[in-house]
Parts: sequence; C-alpha cells; structure tokens
Amino acid sequence: MKIIDGKALADKMRSELRIKAENFETKHGRKIGVAFVVVGDNPASEVYIRNKVRACAQTNVRSVVHRMSADTTEAQLVAKIRKLNTNSRVDGFLVQLPLPPHLDERKILSLIKPSKDIDGFHVANAGALMLGQSCLPACTPAACIELLKSTGVPLTGKHAVVVGRSNIVGKPVALMLLQENCTVTVCHSKTANLVEITRGADILVAAIGRREFITGDMIKPGAIVIDVGINRHEDKLYGDVHFESVSRVASHITPVPGGVGPMTVTMVIANAVRNTSEASIANALKTVLN
Ligand code: NDP
Repeated sequence: MKIIDGKALADKMRSELRIKAENFETKHGRKIGVAFVVVGDNPASEVYIRNKVRACAQTNVRSVVHRMSADTTEAQLVAKIRKLNTNSRVDGFLVQLPLPPHLDERKILSLIKPSKDIDGFHVANAGALMLGQSCLPACTPAACIELLKSTGVPLTGKHAVVVGRSNIVGKPVALMLLQENCTVTVCHSKTANLVEITRGADILVAAIGRREFITGDMIKPGAIVIDVGINRHEDKLYGDVHFESVSRVASHITPVPGGVGPMTVTMVIANAVRNTSEASIANALKTVLN
C-alpha cells in the first residue's frame, strides 16, 4: 500500500507555480495578486486563510486579506466584491466560507466576477465544467484529480465511486472523473446498498463529512482511496475514511491531514496563476459571461 503524499505533491506544484509567478513579475513589473475576504471570526476559516496566505508567499504571489466583522451587512460585502472585481491588480479572489448566517452565500458568490473566481464556485465556472469548457475549476475536486494522477495509475476505464454530492466537492469531482474517462457512480445519504457499490470501486472518493465512515470492508482490494473529509474531534483531525482498516486493503490512500488539504490550497494559487498565464480561460469567461 502506498500513501499518496499530498504535502510533497503540493510542495512540488508550488515550486512550479513559483517559477510561473516570477516570470509574470518579470514581464509585468508586478506580482500576481490575490485577495481573500473573511467575514467574522470562524476559527476553521482562520486556519484555511493562514494556509492560503502561506502558500501565496511560497509561490511569489501577493496576497491581501480583507477582514470584515461578523455583523457586516450584505451591502458592505457587495461593495467589497465590486471593488475587487474591478481592481486590475487583483487577478483573483475568494470569499471564505462559511459566511455568517445573515448573509446569503449563493447570492454573494454569484457576484464574484467569474474570471476572478479562484475558488471555482461561481455558477458560470461550475456550468463550464459541466460542459467540458475552459473554466476555473473548484479547488478540492481539482486537488483530488491531481492526487489520483500522481499515482501514475491510468484512470481511463476505471469505476470511480464518489460518496457525497455537494456542489463544492462531490458533484464537481464526479464530472472531473468523467472527463478522465472513468465510469462514475455518485452516492449520497439516500443511496441503497452503499457498501455493495463502494466494494465495486477501483477509485473511491469520500466527501461525506462523517468521521472514519468508510471502513476496510467497504473497499475493493487494490482500490485507490481519496479521503476529502476533515472532521475535528477532541482537537484531532480525522478523515471520512478509517485509515487503519482501509490502508490494509487499498493500493493507494491519502492521509488526513497531509492529503487533499494541502493540494486544495495549492489549487487556489494554481487558479490565480492560470488566470494570468492562460489568456484563453480568462478571455473565454470574460467574453461569454461578463
Ligand atoms: P456536505 O455536508 O455538503 O456533503 C456531504 C455529502 O455526504 C452529502 O451529499 C450527503 O448526502 C453525503 N452523506 C452524508 N451522510 C452519508 C451517508 N451516511 N452515506 C452516504 N452519503 C452520505 O459536505 P462537503 O462536500 O462540503 O464536505 C465533505 C467533507 O469534506 C467534510 O468533511 C468537509 O470538511 C471536507 N472538505 C475538505 C476539504 C479539503 O480541502 N480537504 C474542502 C471541502 C470539504 P445528501 O446529499 O443525501 O445529504
């Protein structure tokens, strides 16, 4: 059994992104710029933002964190987004989720200019992904695909089972696996015979949000297992996969922490860099959508 080292893969990708970001700076006389908008003081969000800021520093990307109080009004947040949408020194930005309950996440995300949407959550990017067109892909699903590719195992023709159907992980990762020529099954809380289905998976992606839910008896021998889950319990992080029992059956597995997490952060930077280096994506989105 091989552990898929997300931290090592992230470090490698960040070195490559840094070269591109340095080339951008040489050519344009400024660094690639990203912004992170944080509303309120959710402790988990603070950790994610710290990791993203650190990743920017590692990749020669300038980052600015815009902190807004928990009682920020919709109008104030909308004004901030409009400013970032039009600031030519901001190549991409995201609004850290979750937002305080009085703010409508769907509405707020829809106001981000799709060509600057480095989280890949805007309906335009999600729709472009569905149609197989250029887009800024959602970061966690893109991270899963990079981790799978890093194994060197061909994905074509494999039966991939995704457990979870959220808009930010389950659905987009299923579409990306389809694009990689997998045969994809998506499971959720109403799925009948879940174990029967997961036992048929050559590739299993667990994005459930339930600690150690996937156990060794649910895995086909030799399967590749990607554990997206982050479940905090008594100050420790757990995945959605029971690592000990599953690692006895799987051929490859991502650990938690150190698997999908560091790669998700890296994909945020990758989207910002891609935005500045692949004009086709930004332009395609600009002409079609803005
Ligand atoms: P959601 O809560 O939005 O979705 C969970 C999904 O799991 C739902 O589709 C739900 O089904 C399904 N589910 C719940 N219980 C079961 C069950 N008993 N059997 C089968 N399916 C079930 O979570 P997210 O997709 O946002 O996140 C999933 C996990 O990934 C979380 O632990 C989260 O913290 C983590 N995460 C990690 C990231 C990273 O960077 N590593 C980034 C984003 C998320 P139904 O639709 O029927 O309710």
